[in-house]
Amino acid sequence: MRLLLLGGPGSGKGTQAKALQQRLGVPWISTGEILRQEVASGSVLGHAVRSYVETGELVPDDQMIALIRQRLLQPDAANGWIMEGYPRTAFQAEELDFLLVELKQQLTQVICLDVSTPVLVARSLARARSDDTDEIIQRRIDRYQERTVPILEYYEVSKRLVRVNGDQSIEQVHQAILSAIGV
Ligand code: AMP
Repeated sequence: MRLLLLGGPGSGKGTQAKALQQRLGVPWISTGEILRQEVASGSVLGHAVRSYVETGELVPDDQMIALIRQRLLQPDAANGWIMEGYPRTAFQAEELDFLLVELKQQLTQVICLDVSTPVLVARSLARARSDDTDEIIQRRIDRYQERTVPILEYYEVSKRLVRVNGDQSIEQVHQAILSAIGV
C-alpha cells in the first residue's frame, strides 16, 4: 500500500496518517515531522530549513526532493508507506512520479482531506504553538491554496485522486479513507 495524504494545515492529515500506519502496518512518512526533527536536532539540514518551517513558507523543492529520495531508499519503505504533507508543489509531484518509476514502486491512491478554509483556520488556531501567529497560520493556508491545490488536478486527471470530507469526526474520516482504499 502506497498512499499520499494531502490536505491543508489543520486538515487532520497527521492524525489520519498515524492511524493508518497502525491499521495498515506500513511506515508513516511525514515531511513536516522530519523537518521539525531536523530543526530540533540542529543538523545542517535543520539550519538550512529552519526559517521556512518557522514562518510557514515552503522549503525549496530541491531540498525536499533530495529528502524524500533518501527516505524512500531506506529499507523500511520498500514494501509500502503513507506519505503525508508531500508533495506540496507541481514540481515535487512530477519528480515523485519519476522517483517511483526509478524505484519500481507504484502509487496505490492519493487521498485529499477536504476541509473548508474557516475550519482550517479554526483548527490551526486551536492547536497553534506559542510562536504561531495569525500571520503564519494564514501564510500556511495561502501556500496550500496557491501551490498544493493545483496539483490535485494532476492526480485527478490521472484518476489517482480520492477526496474525503475532512470536516467529519476523526473516526468518520478514518473509515471514509479505509473504504476509499478498499480496506
Ligand atoms: P506540516 O507539518 O506538513 O504542516 O509541515 C510543516 C512545515 O514544513 C511547512 O509549513 C513547510 O515549511 C515545511 N514542509 C513540509 N512538507 C513540505 C513540502 N513537501 N514542501 C515544502 N515544505 C514542506
